[in-house]
Amino acid sequence: MGEFELIRRYFAAAPCAQPGEGVVQGIGDDCALLALAAGEQLAVSTDTLVIGVHFPHTCDAFLLGQRALAVATSDLAAMGAAPIGFTLALTLPQADADWLQAFATGLNQMAQACDMRLIGGDTTRGPLTLTVTVFGRVPAGQALTRAGAQVGDVLCVGGPLGDAAAALPLVLNQCTAPAAIAEPLLARYWAPEPQLAFGQALRGKATAALDISDGLLADCGHIALASKVALHIERERLPLSPAVAAWLPQEKAWECALSGGDDYVLAFTVAQAHVAQLQRDGWPVTVIGRVVAGNGVHLLDSAGHSLAPSSRGYLHFGGAGDSTKQENGT
Ligand code: ADP
Ligand code: MG
Repeated sequence: MGEFELIRRYFAAAPCAQPGEGVVQGIGDDCALLALAAGEQLAVSTDTLVIGVHFPHTCDAFLLGQRALAVATSDLAAMGAAPIGFTLALTLPQADADWLQAFATGLNQMAQACDMRLIGGDTTRGPLTLTVTVFGRVPAGQALTRAGAQVGDVLCVGGPLGDAAAALPLVLNQCTAPAAIAEPLLARYWAPEPQLAFGQALRGKATAALDISDGLLADCGHIALASKVALHIERERLPLSPAVAAWLPQEKAWECALSGGDDYVLAFTVAQAHVAQLQRDGWPVTVIGRVVAGNGVHLLDSAGHSLAPSSRGYLHFGGAGDSTKQENGT
């Protein structure tokens, strides 16, 4: 199977590669062409996944296709952008028809769930590597950046934390868990749901936002730095999924929630006055802390006391990058 036959069969012919809103020219020419309405800005983000670094060698192709697009699209959600489409740069060791079919099916399923269209890419030979570049639209000046958190705002997250970190030993076949625990955790790891509609609903309300990819503490550090504020996080307020709460001892669950990566839920700051309305509108808003003058991210117990340095050991895990890297010790 030649390069062009491969592109046609698995990608150009896929349902997600068919024409759609905002895509003037998709796969097949030298460039794709996107149309923006007057007063809109283009949001662009790229993510690369390398075998053995970001996903294990044994990784299922269908799940990989789903996950690669989900983690990239989550960046659009974090900016409050609406999805348009994505490109796929695919480096493959060989053209294995079964692998390509499964990969394309997973990719397509996530593309349809996220309303994303495949608009182009590149296909090369080499160690398995996926680069997904996503494109979205946002009204000019309304993108949610990391830089606007205001002293007095509350800090919120858009869903349970720590599921993906709890799932990692299951992903790496280092342990097993009952199906009622393993299934929801593995689903959160392999098919995170980019919070696209939620991100757009936060436009004009959230003062700063991002999606949690490297762990809550590390990512909140980015908001604190960009906004020149300090963030206080109350440990007892961290939302945990039923599976994590049932499976892990409390300390371990908190560690996953604070320092585990790959959750892809939104973290954002917002005036307290907006919280009740967002919750009434059905958005999954959990207040976990507040914005104060100063710098850095500080973890507090329920009485508001700073947690002892030993507990702050969580910070040693923060910012280590993609947690799958633990597999190789890189
Ligand atoms: P060029 O040589 O002009 O860069 P290519 O021959 O690499 O073009 O690709 C031909 C067309 O197929 C282009 O529109 C490109 O965007 C698209 N394409 C190539 N690889 C992929 C892929 N893996 N997924 C989707 N589209 C692809
Ligand atoms: Mg090319």
